[in-house]
Amino acid sequence: MKLRTIILFSLLSVSLDAQTITKPVSQQQNIQPKLIVGIVVDQMRYDYLSKYYNKFCENGFKKLLTQGYNCKNANYNYAPTYTGPGHASIYSGTTPAYHGVIANDWFERNTGKIIYVTDDQSVQTVGSSSVKEGKMSPCNLLASTIGDEMRLFSNLKCKVIAVALKDRAAILPGGHLSNGSFWFDSESGNFITSTYYMKRLPQWVTDFNSRRLADKYLSRPWNTLKPIEQYTESAKDNNPYEGLYKGESMPVFPHNLPAMFSKTNYEILRSTPFGNTITKDIAIAALKGEKLGKGEYTDFLAISFSSTDYIGHKMGPQSVEVEDTYLRLDLNIAEIITFLEQSLGRDNFLLFLTADHAAAYVPEELIDLKMNAGYFSYKVFSDSLKGYLNKTFSDSNLVSKIMNDQIYLNRQLIKQKNIDIKNLEEGVASFALKFDGIANAYTSYQLNGATLQNRSAQMMQNGFYIKRSGDIAILLEPAWLDDYSLTGTSHGTTYRYDTHVPLLWYGWKIKHGYSSVPVDITDIAPTIASILNITPPSASLGKPLF
Ligand code: ZN
Ligand code: ZN
Repeated sequence: MKLRTIILFSLLSVSLDAQTITKPVSQQQNIQPKLIVGIVVDQMRYDYLSKYYNKFCENGFKKLLTQGYNCKNANYNYAPTYTGPGHASIYSGTTPAYHGVIANDWFERNTGKIIYVTDDQSVQTVGSSSVKEGKMSPCNLLASTIGDEMRLFSNLKCKVIAVALKDRAAILPGGHLSNGSFWFDSESGNFITSTYYMKRLPQWVTDFNSRRLADKYLSRPWNTLKPIEQYTESAKDNNPYEGLYKGESMPVFPHNLPAMFSKTNYEILRSTPFGNTITKDIAIAALKGEKLGKGEYTDFLAISFSSTDYIGHKMGPQSVEVEDTYLRLDLNIAEIITFLEQSLGRDNFLLFLTADHAAAYVPEELIDLKMNAGYFSYKVFSDSLKGYLNKTFSDSNLVSKIMNDQIYLNRQLIKQKNIDIKNLEEGVASFALKFDGIANAYTSYQLNGATLQNRSAQMMQNGFYIKRSGDIAILLEPAWLDDYSLTGTSHGTTYRYDTHVPLLWYGWKIKHGYSSVPVDITDIAPTIASILNITPPSASLGKPLF
């Protein structure tokens, strides 16, 4: 830890020396940024930075790399590495064991229902006539976020705004006290929010929606930005590892977007690079509309680019579609940086860019290359497990649910039948180990308190919250995915291809450099707290990087 602190200290061109600490708060404030901008790129692998480097423009990713500070070895320190937990961990500086966001959805034992991470039936949609899309709030996020702490510190005078296509990617970063978290409603094509935050949309969001940008972006086919023969970093456009868009018989350009949407269904926008473009558009509209960075206190803008995840799932990391998406995203990011530099000046904003998780290569491709990879069938596993439970514990209904690589036992039945739950958990875990594709299985007794030695086990423990997690957590072998889809890819494990993500810092007093020293994603929020001289989020575990 000491080594890390020393190395990363050089990230700042001006150190916060003893003199600074003794200055009154009012004088300290002028050394702080006026605005923090957090950019999360959903499913971005670290190596996309180097893979596509030569094709990036001068003012986007390349500027962050050549003028900013690159933490080259930033990783998630828990599993499951999914979108909800990723966003919650970045902004709360802690892991699912403490912020409670153990997945995008989970099984609720009391009701037997599946809970979506940002579901809130007590609130209503604001900004469209959609009913379900706006029944959302941060009610399931148990810890505070860096934005919450900034709001509390300033007596609610600073502004925190969050925007994303995905509801959870706006709501979790915005925290409990954001002035507005806005997400995309596929039914109306509008950005919406909920009554948790406000009764009606701010005028700038209404004006933004009236521009009908979703219609504009879907009115043309998706062609590659550059001539397709230049996409030499990717596999050939037509290959068997990619999924198909609606109505297509081959996974090739151009993708006929106008044929894939209607005025009541804009869902397809998410799976195109233009979902990122509209996110950039609303981010800039927010900067202008809320005058972020122009007030007395440091403001916060959280932007999450979600389309990279939808396209990554469908096509996989080697596809021309993913490459094209990153080249276009690069232009979007360049536009945001240029806007910030022109409106605030480079010294007045601090920007960080990271990802909520990365992703595996497509297992089918690895299998064809004779590597160890595979597809795990939870259906086959579940049927077989029932047989085992019947034989050993005389009841096949002892499992309530299998989801998120976790097995939820039927606690009511266990109690009724007077079965020793620890014994049952151990039995199920040993049974699971007989399956090809399962690397390990951990019981809740191990995960909830035992001191586990190996790295993967500790990461499973960091992702385990006893009130929401299953009773047995399964870790598949590297490059194994569940058999939900045999094309494209996914994420969720403790392996490096899921945990290793970019972490770039730019602007304010950040000087150019890089470090290969390991840092955790949970270090981001405490770093910002340290820069702002405020208390880190409530359950924060990370360490300031400088
Ligand atoms: Zn994600
Ligand atoms: Zn995903």
